[in-house]
Amino acid sequence: MLIDVLVDLPIAGNRTYTYRVPEAMAVAVGAVVAVPFGTRVVHGFCTRIREADSATDKTREVLELISSAFFPEGYWNLLIKVADYYLTPLSKVLETVLPPGVLTRSQRRVRIIPLEKRPTHQAALFAPPLSPKASAVFAALEQSPDLAMLALQRKVPQAAAGLRELQKLGWVESFFLETNAAKPKRQKFVTLVHAQPEGLTTRQREVLHALEALGGSTPVQEALIKARTTIGTLQTLAELGRVTLESREVLRFLGGIRVQPDHPKTLTVHQQQALERIQTLFEQPPTNLQALLHGVTGSGKTEVYLQTIAPVLEQGCSALVLVPEIGLTPQLTDRFEARFPGKVRVYHSALSDGERYDTWRQMLTAEPQVIVGTRSAVFAPLQNLGLIILDEEHDGSYKQDQPQPCYHARTVAQWRSHLEKIPLILGSATPAIETFAQHRPSSSSYCALPNRVEGRPMPVVDVVDMREELADGNFSPFSRLLQHTLSDLQTSGEQGILFLNRRGYSTFVMCRSCGYAITCPHCAVSLTYHQAGERLRCHYCNHSASQPEQCPVCSSPYLKYFGSGTQRIEEDLTRLFPSLVSLRYDRDTTTRKGSHRRIIDQFQRGEAQILIGTQMLTKGLDLPEVTLVGILVADGILNLPDFRASERAFQTLTQVAGRAGRGDKPGRVILQTYSPDHPVIHAVRSHAYEPFIQGELEERRAFGYPPFVQLVCIHFQGGLETAVIDCADSFSSHLRLQTPSLEQLGPAPCTIEKVKNQYRWQLLLKNTQGPQGYEQIAKALTQFAGHSRVRINVDVDPLRIL
Ligand code: ADP
Ligand code: ZN
Ligand code: ZN
Repeated sequence: MLIDVLVDLPIAGNRTYTYRVPEAMAVAVGAVVAVPFGTRVVHGFCTRIREADSATDKTREVLELISSAFFPEGYWNLLIKVADYYLTPLSKVLETVLPPGVLTRSQRRVRIIPLEKRPTHQAALFAPPLSPKASAVFAALEQSPDLAMLALQRKVPQAAAGLRELQKLGWVESFFLETNAAKPKRQKFVTLVHAQPEGLTTRQREVLHALEALGGSTPVQEALIKARTTIGTLQTLAELGRVTLESREVLRFLGGIRVQPDHPKTLTVHQQQALERIQTLFEQPPTNLQALLHGVTGSGKTEVYLQTIAPVLEQGCSALVLVPEIGLTPQLTDRFEARFPGKVRVYHSALSDGERYDTWRQMLTAEPQVIVGTRSAVFAPLQNLGLIILDEEHDGSYKQDQPQPCYHARTVAQWRSHLEKIPLILGSATPAIETFAQHRPSSSSYCALPNRVEGRPMPVVDVVDMREELADGNFSPFSRLLQHTLSDLQTSGEQGILFLNRRGYSTFVMCRSCGYAITCPHCAVSLTYHQAGERLRCHYCNHSASQPEQCPVCSSPYLKYFGSGTQRIEEDLTRLFPSLVSLRYDRDTTTRKGSHRRIIDQFQRGEAQILIGTQMLTKGLDLPEVTLVGILVADGILNLPDFRASERAFQTLTQVAGRAGRGDKPGRVILQTYSPDHPVIHAVRSHAYEPFIQGELEERRAFGYPPFVQLVCIHFQGGLETAVIDCADSFSSHLRLQTPSLEQLGPAPCTIEKVKNQYRWQLLLKNTQGPQGYEQIAKALTQFAGHSRVRINVDVDPLRIL
């Protein structure tokens, strides 16, 4: 048998090499093997099993099977696609994909096999004469219990050849030193062999009876307690052949808190239609396996997901549910656990390394299961994957900003759906522009849930013009209307949410009197304030302007962005309404494990009336008692210096507004802004997704932004500013020389131009020539020599250009 091996060495690139598999070795795709490579022994992944007829005399032999498969067959095609498209070496892709600890380099160690464990015929014979190299290796190993491969190679020149000889003899073996994280957890088990009482003491008989009652195989720790016995007694019974003692691999406890099982709900008419549409779509010959579920907030998308998953599990397949990072609330996982008890597992980067490793192994089993996870779970190595769901598909956390590969989980899910013929559902109340462009309402893959369940109305959105508040002398962050409504809440006892956008960058310049924000005349993005030189700059094209003293439109001196954190707002609120109890829900209050659940539980039990929070409030929260949502300043999101600012603002504001009135009582939203005439504000107020997106699409077309062009953003970063600029400039000219027709924006400093003493510049490329232009960029990157002190990071289809 022959196999292709991807060698885990940077110099080997993405190439695979063919090796012969020795007779007794069972190697499957995804397995880790040790192979000779040049004069070294390295490890690699088996990517393909080949027909033996392509062997040549030069084909070398696999030395060792180090670990059985880490992923299913067919998986490689996906990884290779990711590596190619995101211009990233395959080894880097593997680092992102595999659970931590699996792939650490130079873990390979070698040791002498004890005499009694060597192959008997060999041990019985006198030692054959060893070659000088093998003797040297053996001598080195005799001095220490085991040696790192690298250390051995340092000690003995050409150690690999000697080692091979010793391995063939069965004298020496190499092994992976498993890191703690990647070490399977083991537990001792006692198993009953036969319970006949003959020849046993009364005490021993009692123990056997107890073990029998426990049913076959029991963890030793449990058996000791339940059978009231000692390890000594168990060992004696083992010697008598009545029980066996063995250590077994167990999975770390991965389940969540037990929840009350629930039953499928009777679907609304629209839910039923959507479900049927999705099912017929997937039954057709696999030409189109993707659907968009566009459902307004509170329309019951989750119920549709649950009822699509149920038959998949019944058929013995697994389902993968992807959610945004901040959407992975216990509330959501509980809903899946309640419907599919014992079958749900979570997978995300906040798990401990050991938990991730165990979940990975669990996913490799053929057992039907539901994996709920964030971005990287799109690579879940499920054996019989039958369905992928991407909830809140517009969410920015699906995109990896760094390190490379800067992949988008939606894009990868689409490839996976295509490559493995798996149905994919994209769900959102506010689909991304790209997704909308792919699944227009007229197409068969578009499924809509236009209404909330149980005939509940969409919340009423009141827009408050904060310019007027300022003109009337109200400098507080609460408008008069909001103050009024909050005092009503005080008496009614209903619950409210206050949202503020703390992630807004305080670098754009806005007039508080008229709402005017200064933007770049060429790129339609906000100019950002750079302290160096006190200038405003476009970080796309590097256009710059001086910082005005007063508003160019209305001459007001109130030119700045003000922002206050959740803590300030909480203090202000308590001062105004001492009897309103509030809770903060933001990154600072949810760092501890379980704190998400604690805060939301407290709020749901009615221990507080107001929940104050940031972006984390926007997703997945279903709080039926909330009737008021107050958005303190919408402008922070409206004016982000990014061509996607409007789209993102619309999505965030709609999601926050959607937290209101999800229960029996109707909801109300108070949206405070300095730009009440902004198209985004109009769209949020009237829940008008489509006209807004159409308008956005036109603007994108006019300015040449995705989905009409492909963007590639090249980042240059280093400790020496001149070197960074130099490197960016020379790459730019190198590319211009090679592809004059490719549009370049910049190089320009990033919005945050210096982080931890690292200077950051970027070059934005607009590819209008499809794959051809893309290949040119890829080629230029491989040819570019770079600069030793500047790191280059490539972001294909960047989501944030900051
Ligand atoms: P979305 O994800 O679309 O915002 P959810 O799935 O959270 O909406 O559903 C909103 C609420 O409506 C939830 O409390 C859910 O239990 C409830 N719900 C969903 N479908 C139905 C139904 N068919 N009948 C009754 N209640 C439903
Ligand atoms: Zn003004
Ligand atoms: Zn510009």
